[in-house]
Amino acid sequence: MNTLSIAIHGGAGTLVKGMMTPELEARYKNDLKLALDKGYAILEAGGTAIDAVEVAVKVLEDSPLFNAGKGSVFTATESHEMDASIMDGNTLNAGAVSLITGIKNPISLARDVMEKSEHVFLAGEGAMQFAKELDYTIENDTYFYDDFRHQQWLEIKDTDRFQLDHAKKKDSKFGTVGAVACDQDGNIAAATSTGGMTNKKWGRVGDSPMIGAGNYANNKTCAISCTGSGEFFIRGVVAYDVSCLMEHKNMSLKAASEEVIHKRILEIGGDGGLIAVDANGNVAMPFNTEGMYRASKTSAGVEEVSIYK
Ligand code: ASP
Repeated sequence: MNTLSIAIHGGAGTLVKGMMTPELEARYKNDLKLALDKGYAILEAGGTAIDAVEVAVKVLEDSPLFNAGKGSVFTATESHEMDASIMDGNTLNAGAVSLITGIKNPISLARDVMEKSEHVFLAGEGAMQFAKELDYTIENDTYFYDDFRHQQWLEIKDTDRFQLDHAKKKDSKFGTVGAVACDQDGNIAAATSTGGMTNKKWGRVGDSPMIGAGNYANNKTCAISCTGSGEFFIRGVVAYDVSCLMEHKNMSLKAASEEVIHKRILEIGGDGGLIAVDANGNVAMPFNTEGMYRASKTSAGVEEVSIYK
Protein backbone atom coordinates (compact mmCIF):
# COMPACT_ATOMS: atom_id res chain seq x y z
CA MET A 1 0.00 0.00 0.00
CA ASN A 2 1.10 3.52 -0.69
CA THR A 3 2.24 5.71 2.21
CA LEU A 4 -0.75 7.74 3.39
CA SER A 5 -0.05 11.38 4.11
CA ILE A 6 -1.84 14.61 4.84
CA ALA A 7 -0.61 18.13 5.57
CA ILE A 8 -2.68 21.19 6.48
CA HIS A 9 -2.02 24.88 7.06
CA GLY A 10 -3.87 27.76 8.71
CA GLY A 11 -1.78 30.60 7.29
CA ALA A 12 1.74 31.97 7.63
CA GLY A 13 3.19 35.26 8.82
CA THR A 14 4.91 37.21 11.56
CA LEU A 15 3.44 35.25 14.41
CA VAL A 16 4.89 37.22 17.30
CA LYS A 17 5.22 34.86 20.23
CA GLY A 18 4.58 37.57 22.79
CA MET A 19 1.11 38.20 21.35
CA MET A 20 0.09 34.61 21.70
CA THR A 21 -1.31 33.46 25.04
CA PRO A 22 -0.88 29.82 26.06
CA GLU A 23 -4.67 29.44 25.88
CA LEU A 24 -4.85 30.81 22.34
CA GLU A 25 -1.94 28.67 21.20
CA ALA A 26 -3.70 25.62 22.62
CA ARG A 27 -6.87 26.52 20.72
CA TYR A 28 -4.98 26.89 17.44
CA LYS A 29 -3.22 23.57 17.93
CA ASN A 30 -6.45 21.89 18.94
CA ASP A 31 -8.26 22.99 15.78
CA LEU A 32 -5.29 22.08 13.58
CA LYS A 33 -5.18 18.62 15.14
CA LEU A 34 -8.92 18.19 14.71
CA ALA A 35 -8.65 18.98 10.99
CA LEU A 36 -5.60 16.74 10.61
CA ASP A 37 -7.23 13.79 12.34
CA LYS A 38 -10.49 14.09 10.42
CA GLY A 39 -8.66 14.19 7.11
CA TYR A 40 -6.32 11.36 8.05
CA ALA A 41 -9.23 9.17 9.21
CA ILE A 42 -10.63 9.31 5.67
CA LEU A 43 -7.30 8.11 4.24
CA GLU A 44 -6.99 5.37 6.86
CA ALA A 45 -10.45 4.09 6.03
CA GLY A 46 -9.39 3.73 2.39
CA GLY A 47 -10.95 7.00 1.27
CA THR A 48 -9.67 9.31 -1.45
CA ALA A 49 -7.25 12.20 -1.20
CA ILE A 50 -9.88 14.58 -2.59
CA ASP A 51 -12.33 13.63 0.20
CA ALA A 52 -9.60 13.98 2.82
CA VAL A 53 -8.58 17.50 1.77
CA GLU A 54 -12.19 18.70 1.56
CA VAL A 55 -13.01 17.38 5.04
CA ALA A 56 -9.84 18.85 6.59
CA VAL A 57 -10.46 22.28 5.04
CA LYS A 58 -14.09 22.26 6.20
CA VAL A 59 -12.95 21.84 9.82
CA LEU A 60 -10.62 24.84 9.42
CA GLU A 61 -13.37 26.87 7.70
CA ASP A 62 -15.68 26.14 10.65
CA SER A 63 -13.09 27.42 13.14
CA PRO A 64 -13.28 31.20 13.82
CA LEU A 65 -9.50 31.24 14.37
CA PHE A 66 -8.64 31.09 10.68
CA ASN A 67 -9.35 33.49 7.84
CA ALA A 68 -11.67 31.22 5.85
CA GLY A 69 -15.38 30.43 6.15
CA LYS A 70 -16.36 31.48 9.70
CA GLY A 71 -13.69 33.97 10.78
CA SER A 72 -13.15 35.43 7.30
CA VAL A 73 -11.79 38.98 7.32
CA PHE A 74 -13.94 42.04 6.52
CA THR A 75 -13.93 43.76 3.12
CA ALA A 76 -14.00 47.56 2.66
CA THR A 77 -17.81 47.42 2.68
CA GLU A 78 -17.91 45.46 5.96
CA SER A 79 -18.87 42.22 4.29
CA HIS A 80 -17.06 38.95 3.60
CA GLU A 81 -15.95 37.76 0.17
CA MET A 82 -14.49 34.30 0.14
CA ASP A 83 -12.38 32.36 -2.38
CA ALA A 84 -11.63 28.62 -2.58
CA SER A 85 -10.22 26.02 -4.93
CA ILE A 86 -9.71 22.27 -5.08
CA MET A 87 -7.80 20.03 -7.49
CA ASP A 88 -7.61 16.28 -8.06
CA GLY A 89 -4.09 15.21 -9.07
CA ASN A 90 -5.31 11.97 -10.60
CA THR A 91 -7.63 13.50 -13.20
CA LEU A 92 -6.37 17.12 -13.19
CA ASN A 93 -9.98 18.10 -12.60
CA ALA A 94 -10.31 21.32 -10.67
CA GLY A 95 -12.96 23.65 -9.26
CA ALA A 96 -12.77 27.17 -7.88
CA VAL A 97 -15.01 29.95 -6.60
CA SER A 98 -14.26 33.55 -5.88
CA LEU A 99 -16.00 36.58 -4.32
CA ILE A 100 -18.73 34.45 -2.79
CA THR A 101 -20.77 35.48 0.26
CA GLY A 102 -22.81 33.62 2.87
CA ILE A 103 -21.50 30.15 2.03
CA LYS A 104 -20.49 28.24 5.19
CA ASN A 105 -18.01 25.98 3.40
CA PRO A 106 -16.63 27.58 0.22
CA ILE A 107 -14.43 24.52 -0.39
CA SER A 108 -17.52 22.35 -0.93
CA LEU A 109 -18.86 24.83 -3.46
CA ALA A 110 -15.50 24.70 -5.28
CA ARG A 111 -15.78 20.92 -5.34
CA ASP A 112 -19.30 21.18 -6.73
CA VAL A 113 -18.01 23.44 -9.51
CA MET A 114 -15.51 20.67 -10.32
CA GLU A 115 -18.03 17.84 -10.21
CA LYS A 116 -21.39 19.36 -11.07
CA SER A 117 -20.55 21.96 -13.71
CA GLU A 118 -18.53 21.88 -16.88
CA HIS A 119 -16.43 24.76 -15.69
CA VAL A 120 -13.40 25.26 -13.49
CA PHE A 121 -13.87 28.76 -12.04
CA LEU A 122 -17.08 30.60 -11.10
CA ALA A 123 -17.06 34.06 -9.54
CA GLY A 124 -19.34 36.53 -7.76
CA GLU A 125 -23.04 36.63 -8.55
CA GLY A 126 -22.80 33.77 -11.00
CA ALA A 127 -21.15 31.53 -8.43
CA MET A 128 -23.87 32.48 -5.95
CA GLN A 129 -26.54 31.62 -8.52
CA PHE A 130 -24.87 28.22 -8.98
CA ALA A 131 -24.89 27.70 -5.18
CA LYS A 132 -28.58 28.60 -4.99
CA GLU A 133 -29.42 26.15 -7.75
CA LEU A 134 -27.69 23.47 -5.69
CA ASP A 135 -29.80 24.51 -2.68
CA TYR A 136 -26.92 25.81 -0.58
CA THR A 137 -28.06 27.54 2.62
CA ILE A 138 -27.01 31.18 2.61
CA GLU A 139 -25.85 32.14 6.10
CA ASN A 140 -26.42 35.69 7.32
CA ASP A 141 -23.62 38.05 8.36
CA THR A 142 -23.83 37.12 12.03
CA TYR A 143 -22.55 33.63 11.26
CA PHE A 144 -19.30 35.09 9.88
CA TYR A 145 -18.95 37.89 12.45
CA ASP A 146 -15.86 37.73 14.63
CA ASP A 147 -14.91 40.49 17.09
CA PHE A 148 -11.20 40.24 16.43
CA ARG A 149 -11.61 40.47 12.64
CA HIS A 150 -14.01 43.38 13.04
CA GLN A 151 -11.49 45.22 15.21
CA GLN A 152 -8.80 44.64 12.55
CA TRP A 153 -11.09 46.17 9.98
CA LEU A 154 -12.15 49.15 12.15
CA GLU A 155 -8.50 50.12 12.51
CA ILE A 156 -8.04 50.64 8.77
CA LYS A 157 -11.51 51.01 7.30
CA ASP A 158 -11.27 54.72 6.47
CA THR A 159 -7.91 54.39 4.77
CA ASP A 160 -6.88 53.11 1.38
CA ARG A 161 -4.93 50.36 3.06
CA PHE A 162 -5.74 46.73 2.82
CA GLN A 163 -3.90 44.15 4.77
CA LEU A 164 -3.19 40.51 4.99
CA ASP A 165 -5.14 39.26 7.96
CA HIS A 166 -2.99 40.70 10.76
CA ALA A 167 -1.19 44.04 10.48
CA LYS A 168 2.55 43.75 9.95
CA LYS A 169 3.32 45.96 12.89
CA LYS A 170 1.77 43.50 15.31
CA ASP A 171 1.09 40.01 14.24
CA SER A 172 1.24 39.83 10.51
CA LYS A 173 -0.10 36.52 9.41
CA PHE A 174 -2.00 35.17 6.50
CA GLY A 175 -4.87 33.11 7.85
CA THR A 176 -5.79 31.25 4.69
CA VAL A 177 -6.32 27.51 5.17
CA GLY A 178 -5.38 24.53 3.03
CA ALA A 179 -4.84 20.79 2.88
CA VAL A 180 -2.93 18.36 0.66
CA ALA A 181 -3.10 14.57 0.83
CA CYS A 182 -1.91 11.31 -0.70
CA ASP A 183 -4.21 8.27 -0.51
CA GLN A 184 -3.61 4.51 -0.60
CA ASP A 185 -3.73 4.46 -4.40
CA GLY A 186 -1.08 7.17 -4.66
CA ASN A 187 -3.60 9.76 -5.81
CA ILE A 188 -2.98 13.26 -4.48
CA ALA A 189 -5.18 16.35 -4.08
CA ALA A 190 -5.02 19.95 -2.87
CA ALA A 191 -7.59 22.36 -1.38
CA THR A 192 -7.30 26.02 -0.35
CA SER A 193 -9.84 28.45 1.16
CA THR A 194 -9.61 32.08 2.28
CA GLY A 195 -11.39 35.28 3.21
CA GLY A 196 -8.59 37.19 1.46
CA MET A 197 -7.33 40.53 2.80
CA THR A 198 -8.86 42.88 5.37
CA ASN A 199 -10.44 46.00 3.79
CA LYS A 200 -10.03 44.61 0.25
CA LYS A 201 -12.11 46.28 -2.46
CA TRP A 202 -12.71 46.41 -6.22
CA GLY A 203 -13.34 42.68 -6.28
CA ARG A 204 -9.75 41.93 -5.30
CA VAL A 205 -8.92 38.24 -5.70
CA GLY A 206 -5.72 36.62 -4.41
CA ASP A 207 -3.86 33.45 -5.34
CA SER A 208 -5.94 31.02 -3.26
CA PRO A 209 -8.65 30.24 -5.84
CA MET A 210 -6.27 30.39 -8.79
CA ILE A 211 -5.25 26.97 -10.05
CA GLY A 212 -1.47 27.02 -10.47
CA ALA A 213 -0.90 30.01 -8.19
CA GLY A 214 -2.26 29.15 -4.73
CA ASN A 215 -3.37 25.58 -5.38
CA TYR A 216 -2.32 22.75 -7.68
CA ALA A 217 -2.28 18.94 -7.84
CA ASN A 218 -0.82 16.51 -10.34
CA ASN A 219 -0.07 12.85 -9.55
CA LYS A 220 3.07 13.12 -11.69
CA THR A 221 4.58 15.72 -9.36
CA CYS A 222 2.91 17.20 -6.28
CA ALA A 223 -0.13 18.64 -4.54
CA ILE A 224 0.37 22.16 -3.18
CA SER A 225 -1.61 24.68 -1.11
CA CYS A 226 -0.10 28.13 -0.53
CA THR A 227 -0.53 30.97 1.93
CA GLY A 228 1.06 34.39 1.76
CA SER A 229 1.04 37.69 -0.08
CA GLY A 230 -1.36 36.71 -2.85
CA GLU A 231 -0.31 39.28 -5.43
CA PHE A 232 3.24 37.88 -5.38
CA PHE A 233 2.09 34.27 -5.35
CA ILE A 234 0.04 34.98 -8.47
CA ARG A 235 2.99 36.57 -10.25
CA GLY A 236 5.24 33.70 -9.21
CA VAL A 237 2.65 31.05 -10.24
CA VAL A 238 3.97 29.40 -7.11
CA ALA A 239 2.13 26.08 -6.88
CA TYR A 240 2.75 25.25 -10.53
CA ASP A 241 6.32 26.44 -10.27
CA VAL A 242 7.05 23.74 -7.67
CA SER A 243 5.44 21.16 -9.96
CA CYS A 244 7.50 22.39 -12.95
CA LEU A 245 10.78 22.14 -11.03
CA MET A 246 9.92 18.54 -10.17
CA GLU A 247 8.75 17.64 -13.67
CA HIS A 248 11.37 19.39 -15.76
CA LYS A 249 14.36 19.50 -13.44
CA ASN A 250 13.75 16.23 -11.66
CA MET A 251 13.93 17.88 -8.26
CA SER A 252 12.53 16.20 -5.14
CA LEU A 253 9.40 17.56 -3.46
CA LYS A 254 11.49 19.02 -0.65
CA ALA A 255 14.12 20.61 -2.90
CA ALA A 256 11.56 22.08 -5.31
CA SER A 257 9.28 23.55 -2.66
CA GLU A 258 12.22 25.02 -0.72
CA GLU A 259 13.69 26.52 -3.90
CA VAL A 260 10.41 28.32 -4.59
CA ILE A 261 9.72 29.53 -1.02
CA HIS A 262 13.27 30.39 0.06
CA LYS A 263 14.54 31.73 -3.25
CA ARG A 264 12.23 32.34 -6.19
CA ILE A 265 9.29 33.97 -4.37
CA LEU A 266 11.61 35.96 -2.09
CA GLU A 267 13.39 37.36 -5.15
CA ILE A 268 10.16 38.95 -6.34
CA GLY A 269 9.20 40.19 -2.84
CA GLY A 270 6.68 37.60 -1.72
CA ASP A 271 6.37 36.18 1.75
CA GLY A 272 4.48 33.16 2.98
CA GLY A 273 4.69 29.41 2.73
CA LEU A 274 3.16 26.27 1.32
CA ILE A 275 2.33 22.68 2.17
CA ALA A 276 3.12 19.89 -0.29
CA VAL A 277 2.85 16.14 -0.77
CA ASP A 278 3.92 13.88 -3.62
CA ALA A 279 2.47 10.55 -4.77
CA ASN A 280 4.96 8.62 -2.60
CA GLY A 281 3.54 10.23 0.53
CA ASN A 282 6.47 12.61 1.12
CA VAL A 283 5.56 15.88 2.85
CA ALA A 284 7.18 19.35 2.79
CA MET A 285 6.00 22.50 4.61
CA PRO A 286 8.46 25.36 3.91
CA PHE A 287 7.75 29.00 4.83
CA ASN A 288 9.86 32.17 4.75
CA THR A 289 7.95 33.98 7.52
CA GLU A 290 8.38 33.63 11.27
CA GLY A 291 5.72 31.01 11.50
CA MET A 292 3.05 29.03 9.75
CA TYR A 293 0.14 27.25 11.40
CA ARG A 294 0.70 23.74 10.13
CA ALA A 295 0.32 20.04 10.79
CA SER A 296 1.11 16.78 9.05
CA LYS A 297 0.63 13.06 9.55
CA THR A 298 1.76 10.03 7.57
CA SER A 299 1.38 6.25 7.82
CA ALA A 300 5.19 6.15 8.09
CA GLY A 301 4.81 7.48 11.61
CA VAL A 302 5.36 11.22 11.19
CA GLU A 303 3.04 13.50 13.14
CA GLU A 304 3.55 17.21 13.71
CA VAL A 305 1.43 20.17 14.83
CA SER A 306 3.50 23.38 14.84
CA ILE A 307 3.27 27.15 14.64
CA TYR A 308 6.78 28.59 14.86
CA LYS A 309 10.03 27.66 13.14
N1 ASP B 1 -2.92 34.28 -0.09
C1 ASP B 1 -4.13 34.85 0.47
C2 ASP B 1 -4.59 35.99 -0.40
O1 ASP B 1 -3.76 36.73 -0.91
C3 ASP B 1 -3.94 35.37 1.84
C4 ASP B 1 -3.46 34.38 2.82
O2 ASP B 1 -2.70 33.47 2.48
O3 ASP B 1 -3.87 34.52 3.98
O4 ASP B 1 -5.79 36.19 -0.53
